Amino acid sequence: MSGKVVKVTKYILFFFLFCALLHACGVIRFTEHVHSWQPATCTAPRTCSDCGETDGDPLGHTWTAATCTAPKTCSVCGRTEGGRADHTWTAATCTEPEHCSVCGKDRHWYSVSLGHDWQPATCTAPKTCARCGATEGGPEHDVIEYAHWETVVEATCSSEGEASQACRKCGAVVTKVLPVSDHKAGDWEIVEEATPESDGRRACYCVWCGKEMGSLPVKYTGGTTSTGSGGTTVYDNEDQQDTTASYVLNTSTMKFHRPSCRDVPRIAARNYATSSKSRDYLISIGYSPCGHCRP
Ligand SMILES: [Zn+2]
Ligand SMILES: [Zn+2]
Ligand SMILES: [Zn+2]
Ligand SMILES: [Zn+2]
Ligand SMILES: [Zn+2]
Ligand SMILES: [Zn+2]
Ligand SMILES: [Zn+2]
Repeated sequence: MSGKVVKVTKYILFFFLFCALLHACGVIRFTEHVHSWQPATCTAPRTCSDCGETDGDPLGHTWTAATCTAPKTCSVCGRTEGGRADHTWTAATCTEPEHCSVCGKDRHWYSVSLGHDWQPATCTAPKTCARCGATEGGPEHDVIEYAHWETVVEATCSSEGEASQACRKCGAVVTKVLPVSDHKAGDWEIVEEATPESDGRRACYCVWCGKEMGSLPVKYTGGTTSTGSGGTTVYDNEDQQDTTASYVLNTSTMKFHRPSCRDVPRIAARNYATSSKSRDYLISIGYSPCGHCRP
């Protein structure tokens, strides 16, 4: 190699070294560096994750005020500062004791609500709390619950009835439902005539639905009929006192007697019946005790 070629090669080599030096010092770049920016946080500015270069300022914390349940807190990073705030006590109301309006804690373990201050219902307004205005039920007219009801529709053994009464304050007509009633016994009637061979039967039925409510045998009794003073027909049959039953019934006058009663022979055969049922039962089906023999 000639000396001239070596010299040129040296120059080229120096040129490359010089360029490398400039690049190392950041004076020239072969390719442009693209930053990989990481977003700013509460405490750090926007930062390149490759070269560490930063841009702008940190965001600063986004503080949420302290409450009775949590201290002052950054809503972004969760950092806290200081302690909790005091409870916000709210006075007792009709329905709630003195308590914290933020967390709901009762102020004292023995705290109680005031309870409503009820004012009675009127013709136009329901029962109302004088303190908070709460209401219960509806307006109430002034009627007498246990009296003065006038039946509009009679209740039967199968249907409700209706009764009405005028309000003593405003005169409005108030109605109420009458509950379904018990069966109602009608008159006793002879269902089978008695004959010398066999007893007959008389029965009474519910006037509404026809259900049989009582049944009594009819004894066949001979007896005699005579015409008494004033042309009245007098029936007299002392055999009618001769019964082992507890009571003798007159199905026409609806009285019941002791068998020994002096009235018993005078009961017309068609109205004569006997029964050994209880006194209460006979009264419940419409009979009343005789005033002479006081059964
Ligand atoms: Zn960078
Ligand atoms: Zn923060
Ligand atoms: Zn609280
Ligand atoms: Zn109240
Ligand atoms: Zn009224
Ligand atoms: Zn009935
Ligand atoms: Zn009697």
